Amino acid sequence: AKKAVLGPLVGAVDQGTSSTRFLVFNSKTAELLSHHQVEIKQEFPREGWVEQDPKEILQSVYECIEKTCEKLGQLNIDISNIKAIGVSNQRETTVVWDKLTGEPLYNAVVWLDLRTQSTVENLYKRIPGNNNFVKSKTGLPLSTYFSAVKLRWLLDNVRKVQKAVEENRALFGTIDSWLIWSLTGGVNGGVHCTDVTNASRTMLFNIHSLEWDKELCEFFGIPMEILPNVRSSSEIYGLMKAGALEGVPISGCLGDQSAALVGQMCFQDGQAKNTYGTGCFLLCNTGHKCVFSEHGLLTTVAYKLGRDKPVYYALEGSVAIAGAVIRWLRDNLGIIKSSEEIEKLAKEVGTSYGCYFVPAFSGLYAPYWEPSARGIICGLTQFTNKCHIAFAALEAVCFQTREILDAMNRDCGIPLSHLQVDGGMTSNKILMQLQADILYIPVVKPSMPETTALGAAMAAGAAEGVGVWSLEPEDLSAVTMERFEPQINAEESEIRYSTWKKAVMKSMGWVT
Ligand code: ADP
Repeated sequence: AKKAVLGPLVGAVDQGTSSTRFLVFNSKTAELLSHHQVEIKQEFPREGWVEQDPKEILQSVYECIEKTCEKLGQLNIDISNIKAIGVSNQRETTVVWDKLTGEPLYNAVVWLDLRTQSTVENLYKRIPGNNNFVKSKTGLPLSTYFSAVKLRWLLDNVRKVQKAVEENRALFGTIDSWLIWSLTGGVNGGVHCTDVTNASRTMLFNIHSLEWDKELCEFFGIPMEILPNVRSSSEIYGLMKAGALEGVPISGCLGDQSAALVGQMCFQDGQAKNTYGTGCFLLCNTGHKCVFSEHGLLTTVAYKLGRDKPVYYALEGSVAIAGAVIRWLRDNLGIIKSSEEIEKLAKEVGTSYGCYFVPAFSGLYAPYWEPSARGIICGLTQFTNKCHIAFAALEAVCFQTREILDAMNRDCGIPLSHLQVDGGMTSNKILMQLQADILYIPVVKPSMPETTALGAAMAAGAAEGVGVWSLEPEDLSAVTMERFEPQINAEESEIRYSTWKKAVMKSMGWVT
């Protein structure tokens, strides 16, 4: 059969905490044509430590690209139609590698990792008065979450890293930088860069001047030579050096949450989306203004779609553990064999029967920023079974979202009328309905849930010198929405929510 003539195509790497994907879109319709996905290993070498292998991550990207190209071939689609590639990535995760050998000098320290708790405490003591100095420049509270403290830990504890820095061979990067450097040639001329969104999560970046901040680098003791060049989120960084897509420009780069904001077309002040992956991240576009939260939200760079384009900011509510709690039930307790099975268990009971699960595995992020919290399951009776616990795990994700939505509404003044959602967990219909019930506003999900990849593809396709994607597309016929309306009454929803808050209080203060 002859294929309809396609517009130019754009590929996107979506390198998440759970998995890597490569996806190819039609730039004229935003239609997803083909993709491939590979799950990524997570290592937990000690309690609270989370690592990944940078080389496994890179290999998974190559594998996904090759497999997707094969699938396109089977669909009679010519891969020479792929005009650009965008990269979106798990943010904050920290890699240091040797620029002469291309070898990582340590595993990637994943954003969820808690080993830097004492590093953070020591840094706190050095801040005069309060922590406004770091927060006012970066929009972030001092926490184990961000790259600067992870990099500080590597410099303090890993001899290979210290030595490479002394010998001027070390490069630092978040996953975007590691991938772009490697994909554009690595030791043979790889481009060492990042974009403003990823840079804004390092805690070394001044979100007002959009430059690495000398004072912050001094405070954290980070040598500035090892930092990547900061570019906009949409421009040609370099060309693919190998593989099926050799020669194709890499021209989009966004941290995954920024990419989802773009992919959901939240370009206006006040538009927001919530992504349910390993963690859960609600971002609200605040336009050209840096809005500082009074309620535990972060201020972060949303995107800058071109060298000469203006920067947009966002308020962000970050929840560390969302999908990760489902993975934990699968891998650590073994009560399900696949993440999808959680829905079946939850459906059997349709209630947690008074059981509450606070998955504070990595402390609590927004709005509490409480590193002393640890996970608890409470309200158990003789009657409680694994189905109730499964249900409570899903409810936990919804309650955590409710907490950040409340904070967002208070900071913004205008309550959100509905919530746009995406991410791996949103295929779970029970979760989506519960979320509408607990927020008491409609939850709206695009039929094509890969909005993170779509955002990266849009940035890549719109870049100067590529110019195949219009950011105001006329034909969005491929995008339809599914709506979940609240079904329980507001009073019932409030009672459940206030019991959840009681449980959260009990999760705090476990570690001192
Ligand atoms: P990330 O971008 O962080 O890698 P994804 O968006 O790929 O994450 O989502 C994967 C996460 O979603 C995993 O933690 C997995 O346990 C969870 N998940 C996937 N499918 C379901 C489902 N049907 N119900 C609940 N959780 C799910």
